[in-house]
Amino acid sequence: MHKQVVVIGGGIGGLTAGALLPKHDYVVPVLEASREWGGCAGKFQRHFYTFPVGATLGMGFESGGIHERINAYLGLKLKRFLLRKS
Ligand SMILES: Cc1cc2nc3c(=O)[nH]c(=O)nc-3n(C[C@H](O)[C@H](O)[C@H](O)COP(=O)(O)OP(=O)(O)OC[C@H]3O[C@@H](n4cnc5c(N)ncnc54)[C@H](O)[C@@H]3O)c2cc1C
Repeated sequence: MHKQVVVIGGGIGGLTAGALLPKHDYVVPVLEASREWGGCAGKFQRHFYTFPVGATLGMGFESGGIHERINAYLGLKLKRFLLRKS
């Protein structure tokens, strides 16, 4: 029988829980109140314009960082690139 956890909130925390728990045989619906995923690290649209909400996720992807470890655990490979000044 499947175990179920309902996650309230599709910010980074809820999305991470929703990605990790199925690895342990949980069925995990993630419920999000707004139209966008990502919570305070998400974005919103007004007319033709897209605005970041404010938070970012830039740190934690370094070797041994929290996001790097979670991605490795999930078997995700992220493309990395450096922005260079011209
Ligand atoms: C400037 C800045 C820079 C940052 N840089 C980094 C970084 O480099 N690396 C890093 O790891 N972190 C960084 N952080 C922190 C990171 O962005 C936050 O810790 C993270 O986004 C928080 O995610 P959360 O899921 O805990 O909460 P939230 O993003 O607040 O998500 C909560 C979600 O729950 C939803 N919700 C609330 N109530 C309900 C309800 N009743 N029903 C359904 N949905 C509901 C909300 O709509 C929201 O989508 C930064 C933060 C800031 C401000």
